[in-house]
Parts: sequence; C-alpha cells; structure tokens
Amino acid sequence: MADKRNEIWVFGDYRNYFQNRVTLQLLARANAIAPAIDGLVCAVVLGHDVGEYVWEYGAHGADRIYVTDHPDLKTYSGDLYTHLMVKLAEEKRPEIILIGATDFGREFGPRVAKRLETGLTADCVGLEINRDGLLVQTAPGFGGNLLAEIVTPKARPQMATVRPGIFQEIPHDDDRKAEVIEIPLPPDIPRDRVRLLRCEYRPGRDQCLEDARVVICGGRGMGSKSKFKKLFELARLLNGEVGATRPVIYSRWADHEALVGQAGRQVKPRLLFSFGISGAIQHTAAVTDAEFIIAVNKNPHATMMKMADVAIAADANQVCTALIKELKRRLKSS
Ligand SMILES: Cc1cc2nc3c(=O)[nH]c(=O)nc-3n(C[C@H](O)[C@H](O)[C@H](O)COP(=O)(O)OP(=O)(O)OC[C@H]3O[C@@H](n4cnc5c(N)ncnc54)[C@H](O)[C@@H]3O)c2cc1C
Repeated sequence: MADKRNEIWVFGDYRNYFQNRVTLQLLARANAIAPAIDGLVCAVVLGHDVGEYVWEYGAHGADRIYVTDHPDLKTYSGDLYTHLMVKLAEEKRPEIILIGATDFGREFGPRVAKRLETGLTADCVGLEINRDGLLVQTAPGFGGNLLAEIVTPKARPQMATVRPGIFQEIPHDDDRKAEVIEIPLPPDIPRDRVRLLRCEYRPGRDQCLEDARVVICGGRGMGSKSKFKKLFELARLLNGEVGATRPVIYSRWADHEALVGQAGRQVKPRLLFSFGISGAIQHTAAVTDAEFIIAVNKNPHATMMKMADVAIAADANQVCTALIKELKRRLKSS
C-alpha cells in the first residue's frame, strides 16, 4: 500500500561535500519535525555518479531518496535542475521543501518556488511545526533587527532555504537504509540558456567557517588589504578560520564566502576574535553563539566591545601583529 505520509523534502546539495554539511543538518531537522505532521523525510538528488551521496543521505536520516543520475546532470544548470525539481514536486506533491542557503541553494530555491507558485522564506534560522501543523519558518527581517515567524497557510509546498550551521546533523549510521526511487531523466528537458564554459578549482578552506572552533573576524577598522592579510596568518597559528564584515568583502580584502552576518554565515566558535568591527546588528546576529569573544577596537564604546568578554581598546593592526609575534615565539620555544 502506498505510504500516505506527508513528504518533507530536503534538496541534496552535495557540492563541496565535506565542508558543506547543510543537507545533513536539514535532514536532521526534517526528522525532528516529521512526527508533528506524520511526515516522511525524503532527499532529492540530481546529478551524475551520485551513488555515494545517496548512501550518505540514507545514513544521515532520509527515509526515501529520489534520484536522477544522468551524465547531462554532471554540472549544475539552473534551468534543467529547476525543471526536474518542479516536475517531480508536481507529481509527488511534498508538503515541505527545504534547501540549504548556500550560493547554489539561494539561486535554485526561489526559481523552484516561483514555478510552483508557492512562497519561500529565505535564509531561515529556525523551523518548527505549529499547532495547526504549519511549518513556522523563522528568518531575520528588517535588517536583522527582528526575527520574523512566517507560515505558508495555503500554497504548497511550504518552502524555505536555511542557513548552514543552524542545526546539528544526525550521526552517520550505516544500518539506516533508505528506500531509493530512481527517476529517469525525462525526454522533454529544456535547453540551457546558460552555457558553462569552464570550471575552476579554487582551493577551499581547511575547515568550514560555521564549524571552526576559532574564528578571527576582521572589519573595516583593519585599515587595508595588506593589514587584513595578517588575520590569515593569525588564523593559521590558532588553527582557526577568517571571517569578515560586509565592507571588507566590498573592498575585496576577503572572499565573499568569509562574510559573517545576516547576508553571510553564522558562526559558533569557542573563541571569536573581532578586530576593528563596530558591531552592527547585521553582523552581530551571526556571532551571538560564540562562547568567548575578544574584541579589539579603537573606540571603547563600539557595540562589539560591549558584547565582548574581553575588550581591548587599541589599534587592531598593532594587537594582531603583537599576537602573531607572541604565538610564533611560543611555538619556537615549545
Ligand atoms: C540588509 C543588510 C544586510 C547586511 N548584512 C551584513 C552581513 O551579513 N555582515 C556584515 O558584516 N554586515 C552586513 N551589513 C552591513 C552592516 O550594517 C555594517 O555596515 C557592517 O557590519 C559594518 O562593518 P564594520 O564593522 O567592518 O565597519 P564599520 O561599521 O565602519 O566599523 C569599523 C570599526 O572599526 C573601528 N576602527 C577603526 N579604525 C580602527 C583601528 N585602527 N583599530 C581598531 N579599530 C578601528 C571603528 O571604531 C569601528 O568601530 C548589512 C547591511 C544591510 C543593510
């Protein structure tokens, strides 16, 4: 007999798999909310040679996995992936679709929602089921000054993109087995309007910013690109990762993937350094889970200084340079 449970879909965003754990985090959250709506946790995987991801998603909490595995899906194509996802959703009618708010998911999710004529809450930081059985999608609103709780009462599916690093993944369990349903590539696939000319490998971070135990965040107060570079040296010495504020990204002192804040990543390190950062809500909303904060700012009244466990009123560049020197000295003598 067909399983009549309400399907909660998690889109399998497996790119950069070892650093991007958001799909696994969403599978865990889907498992947590499923009992409230008699839900069945499903993953959807599109791509080529994706067998190992299918197996991983099963081991991390998917009960059912829809897979389309075809050479034409080797590289991501917005048009084609959207077409396939929409077609599948129209046929299977999931209750909920969750997508990681990665660069990829932020493009793909809204396209799918538009075609399905449903709503989508972007960049969620919380997901619950309310008494009416609706998905409550919590997202920062009005520049991060408040958290909005959004529901989609009528249209289906209820859709959300969710920030990486919010939920804890379920530990890998080889004994968990998912039902795998293969969906062949349909004959009527659209021609791509965008052609991929070249793919370039950019060496990634050693670890994911969201999971780093030490994060060194730098802001405009670092003064220049060459001074900002010192933060990378400090991060290496402390086995940490570098984060940045928006002005830093705009000045191209760091890559966009280092952005910490409402429009970027959420961090929860044991130790956070904050160099030359004023503490605008759009940034601080993403660092409140840090266990211990050391802030360095010329202005002792800056918000970031008030949030910090240790506030050093000084030149950020000078403190960074002194820390590097001291750490190197200790490393040498140990
Ligand atoms: C919709 C929206 C979304 C946004 N999303 C984000 C986001 O995701 N992330 C984000 O970071 N921002 C975001 N912003 C921008 C945010 O509002 C702030 O403008 C930004 O965080 C400020 O960055 P900052 O602290 O580096 O710069 P500033 O606010 O200019 O602060 C620089 C600080 O450095 C200090 N300083 C100056 N010189 C020195 C020195 N020599 N030594 C020590 N300290 C010094 C100053 O006292 C000051 O406190 C967003 C804004 C909007 C409107």
